[in-house]
Amino acid sequence: MTMLQDKVIKTRTIHVCVWFWEDIDAEEEGVQYRVYVLDGDFMWEWWHPECWEAVKRVPYEEVEDGFCTGTYSRGGVEYKG
Ligand SMILES: [Zn+2]
Repeated sequence: MTMLQDKVIKTRTIHVCVWFWEDIDAEEEGVQYRVYVLDGDFMWEWWHPECWEAVKRVPYEEVEDGFCTGTYSRGGVEYKG
């Protein structure tokens, strides 16, 4: 993976949170925005601030191969089921 951008932004339009798979409102502050290249593909991610904090609490083994988007609760580390 080649990280191109990894920064905290304020959104201008609605984006989908990669963790929770639901909307991040326009004008939301503290959103983690990442752009990277993985296996030759450009990838974009937006994270709610609390979701970005949540992923740091997940055991590394669970996310090292990537995680399934939308399987976690907002700001939480429990599966939605
Ligand atoms: Zn989120």
